[in-house]
Amino acid sequence: MELKPGPPLDPAAPSLAVIGAGVAGCALTARLRRLGWRGPISLWESGRGAGGRASTRRSRHDPLLRLDHGAPLLSIDSSPPPALLAPLLAGGWLEPWSGELAQLDREGRLIAGATDPLTRGDLYRGKGGMDQLCRGLLELGGAGIELNVNSLVRHLARTTHGGWELQDERQQRLGGADWLVLSGTLLVHPRCQALLGWSEPPLQALLSSLTDPQLERAAAAIAAIGASPRHALLLLIPSAAAEQWRLLPFRLLSFEEAAQKRWGLSRVLIQPLADGRCAVVAHSTAELAPLPGLIPAAEGQQALIEELRSALAAVLKPWITTLDLENAEPQLMRWGAAFPEGPGLASDLMLCPQSRVGFCGDFCSGAGFARVEGALRSGELLAEQLLAALGPGAPA
Ligand SMILES: Cc1cc2nc3c(=O)[nH]c(=O)nc-3n(C[C@H](O)[C@H](O)[C@H](O)COP(=O)(O)OP(=O)(O)OC[C@H]3O[C@@H](n4cnc5c(N)ncnc54)[C@H](O)[C@@H]3O)c2cc1C
Repeated sequence: MELKPGPPLDPAAPSLAVIGAGVAGCALTARLRRLGWRGPISLWESGRGAGGRASTRRSRHDPLLRLDHGAPLLSIDSSPPPALLAPLLAGGWLEPWSGELAQLDREGRLIAGATDPLTRGDLYRGKGGMDQLCRGLLELGGAGIELNVNSLVRHLARTTHGGWELQDERQQRLGGADWLVLSGTLLVHPRCQALLGWSEPPLQALLSSLTDPQLERAAAAIAAIGASPRHALLLLIPSAAAEQWRLLPFRLLSFEEAAQKRWGLSRVLIQPLADGRCAVVAHSTAELAPLPGLIPAAEGQQALIEELRSALAAVLKPWITTLDLENAEPQLMRWGAAFPEGPGLASDLMLCPQSRVGFCGDFCSGAGFARVEGALRSGELLAEQLLAALGPGAPA
């Protein structure tokens, strides 16, 4: 491995580069700052803004549009709650979820008593959109957290002082830091080969030269994590047709397992907008979201839109007899890795001090695994581990 020159480590204020500005990456930076980390922190995000799978679709040309197309809510079902929850609520970034929840059985009837694991415990949502959760976390981190968006980190290189350099697709330097945190699995998981055509996961390529057994174990555990995909059908119902959607007896409809098999849908979300329109998001099951490339892109997408649309029409028939989606601008969004599948990365492998690499994300095992809660908790836990690893000289 070719070593890149880099500045020597300042033990009093080490710098940190975090790849990924989803809930876990943002929670890590907020918790670190609140615990006293003084060094520079930079976040590197390939998307257009912070949020990751808890993002909100917005439009510059349509200021009232907001559409939560990934996680619609945060459920906390273990205690004590994450340390950042109270400040997020106090700051007005989160609010208790107040919409009606319902569950559908295979006969198309609403059933009492929610068993959807995603709606267990105390429920919250971003106030004004789920992306407010990450915005709030960045705000709680205070000034001095540098957020770089539209920045895909493609390559990693070690510096001569044991730090890290982040590089883009042309191997040009994006940034660097003493410590590196990966809050997504892309740079470690073989999925990047199928998804992006990369020859090898970038971190795996460095393992032999790093000779860090802890990092090798962590990388192997991450590479073994499965992922369950989803499609999301996004609809924007014009105000003239939105009344019947607003009158539905639920804001979040979950599908029982047998109902999922019957319709290929796992959840439907009704998101009324301030101007009378209604955003609707229907999540497919994993079975209806096969790997990309198996069907011709445009043709396959249109077929899937039709399939999800007719499933939606069948399910909503008791409440909306004629589903008019003529002007609903249907769009399909694919989440290739919507939910990680267990067992996940054990907490004692989240930090690899010898290589100065850490991992956080909903793929870390423990409370809230595969949910926003787990992402939040993993960021908090890694912050504590990082500060402990820096020893007595670390910020209090
Ligand atoms: C359709 C759907 C519905 C869901 N519903 C719920 C729900 O109801 N309740 C719940 O609790 N959870 C739900 N989830 C799961 C929840 O969204 C996730 O658990 C949580 O958002 C994960 O946060 P994270 O920070 O761990 O990962 P992510 O949100 O995936 O963040 C990782 C970030 O890293 C970025 N990144 C990765 N690699 C690179 C790179 N090389 N360079 C630059 N950037 C990079 C990505 O762009 C991403 O923004 C849902 C997810 C989906 C997709």
